[in-house]
This record gives sequence, structure tokens and C-alpha cells, in this order.
Amino acid sequence: MFKSAFVCFLTLLPFLVLATEPESNPAKRDTSTAVVVYDADVKFIPEANLTSADYTAMIDSLIGLSSIPVSLVNQLNIYRTLSEYENDELGFVIDSIFETPDVPQTVLNAVNLYMTSIDRSMRAPAGFAAYVPYGNSPFPADELYGHWNTLVPNPIRNNLTRFDSTLQLLLIDTVANCGFHTPFEGVVTSHFGWRYGRNHNGIDIDLEVWDPVHAAFPGVVRVARYYKGYGRVVVVRHFNGLETIYAHLHRFKSKPGDVVEAGDVIGLGGSSGNSTGSHLHFEVRFQGVPVKPSEIIDFKKHQLRYPLIALKKSGSFLTASQGGLPEPAVPESKEYLVEKGDYLYRIAQKFGVSVKELCEFNQISPHKHLYAGQRLIVGI
Ligand SMILES: [Zn+2]
Repeated sequence: MFKSAFVCFLTLLPFLVLATEPESNPAKRDTSTAVVVYDADVKFIPEANLTSADYTAMIDSLIGLSSIPVSLVNQLNIYRTLSEYENDELGFVIDSIFETPDVPQTVLNAVNLYMTSIDRSMRAPAGFAAYVPYGNSPFPADELYGHWNTLVPNPIRNNLTRFDSTLQLLLIDTVANCGFHTPFEGVVTSHFGWRYGRNHNGIDIDLEVWDPVHAAFPGVVRVARYYKGYGRVVVVRHFNGLETIYAHLHRFKSKPGDVVEAGDVIGLGGSSGNSTGSHLHFEVRFQGVPVKPSEIIDFKKHQLRYPLIALKKSGSFLTASQGGLPEPAVPESKEYLVEKGDYLYRIAQKFGVSVKELCEFNQISPHKHLYAGQRLIVGI
């Protein structure tokens, strides 16, 4: 196991610093499926949960090789250090790193590599609130994410394989003043789905340069920067855990940490990044997983399709349909007819409840005399 993990790690080297050429060795090439090159992004799928000792051994053996750049060794050391942290500590460390004015690229690479490899199952919010409670955190839906990355639009690995339930999200809440505004009233020129050999994770809406682009829901701006093919991109985290992404902007009208309402102008449309002609590339994601925007928003009527949506796994993304209120849970009490010779302790044992609970269910004292044929509530 250790050997294969080591080989897998080696295949990452060219992506880290473009330093070595492991393809010449067929044994190493065998594990290349562990790395999926997706445009400029690298998705790292760890083969095993490596311990700190494994990393140390790997790094030591790398250092032993000739022509290993110092920057790579530093990066591996950072990576190893990050992997030693608990998730909460890690969030704190990453936040402090991102608060420094100039984050070295080598640190960013290590953090991103780590964030994409971290084993994080999707978490569903409890209940049907447009606002997921987030305690003392200034970040919306922090309970679901546990980190706040202001530099990378999609820092978490797609963990959809672990998501097998239907999730319901409330999109608008008039009581909580949680509304909706269409990002831009324009013609949809490209839909969500497979395009040019990869998934188009959003939809394209035609606009003119300088046209205002609006936040779809209230939330907090997480990212507002130039990022690879997105060009100038704004990511807003919403209070229900959804994130919306607005790409190819010409100008920013918001910055990370800005609290926005639905309809606030967060940027001006343009054609930055990998774009031909000015348009808005708009994505909706939940914990990093793309959701088909047109299943949530009617882009002809410029309104939400449903106030409550149900998200369900479909391939490598989530499909949205009309959510339904849950069946009201009608507690059905289980009854038992007391038999001759029964006593509370034995009945309690029989139904896996405590004597105290039995007494509470039936509003009786533990010393009450039971009689054969008496009806007792033994569970709910
Ligand atoms: Zn697009």
C-alpha cells in the first residue's frame, strides 16, 4: 500500500512544479488515473489515507533524490503539515494564510491540493430553513462547509458518490426577507451539460460589457478575483448553503466578505477569462457540486421555479425539482397488554425502554400495581 501511494504521489510532481518526468517509467504511469487533469485544474484522488509518518518517509526519500527543487520539498512539507491538522484547526490555519496580503503560490498549491483531497462527505442542513444556522461564524452555512476560501471558486472535491439521499432547500423566505433576483435578464446562449468534452457547469446569458450583474440570493461574497478560465469571477455563499458563481465579469462591484442582498450589483458583465464574446457564465453549486441552474430559475420569466427545491444526485451533478414538505410525523404509540405476573422492569426490558420512560408514557408511578389486561404505552 505504501509503495503504490508513493508512486501515486510521484505522478503528481509534474503538476506541482513541472519538475520531473515520471512518464518515462511505465510502472509509474500505471497509477496516472489517480490524477485527472481537468483544464487547468488538477483533481487529486488519494489512494490511501496517508499518515504523517508516510509523508515523512516519502519526503525523505524525495530529498534523497538528485535534482529535486527546494520549492517542491517545501511544498510537500507544507502539505504534510496541513494533513496533520484537525478540520477545525485547518480551517483556522487556512483562513489566517488567506488573510496575509501576499500568499505565496507554493502555499496556495499545497492548500488547494489538500482541499481537493480531503475526505469530506456532503452534509445536509437540518430542516428547511433558507438560513442554515451558523452560530458565531461570520460565514453563511459554515456548519455545512467548515471553511471559507476567498481565493479558489471551487475548493472542495466533488463528494457526490457519497450523497445518496434527497436534500431539500428553501430558496426564499419572505419572513426572513430572503428573496431572489435574476442574475441578468438576457437570452440564454448555452445550457448546462456536456460541451466540448467536459461538463459546462453553468449556463451562459448574453449581455453587453458593463451590464450590471445581480446577486441571485442574499449571502456573503466569498471570492471576487481573476481565476483561470472564469476570468473575473464572483462567488457568493448563500445562507441556505447554495453558492452562485458569476464569471467573465468586466469589473468587480463587490469584494470578499461583502454582505449582499438579492439583486445587489456584484459586478459588471464582460468577456474576461476563457470567453468568446461578452456573456455571463452563471453557476449554482451546493458544497461544490454543480446544480442545473435552469431547474431552479426560469430564465425566460426571470423568476424561481419553486420556493422549495429537492436536490438529488444525477451523474456527477445534482438535479433540482420541486421540494415537498415532509410528511408530518404522526407518532404512533405502541401498546402492550399487561399479562399476569408482569412487572414494570420486565416490560421495560422487553420493549427496550427504561422504567422511567414507561412511567412517563403512562403517567404512572413506578410503584403502581399492574393488573392483567391493563393497557400500557410502551413506546412511540
Ligand atoms: Zn459558460
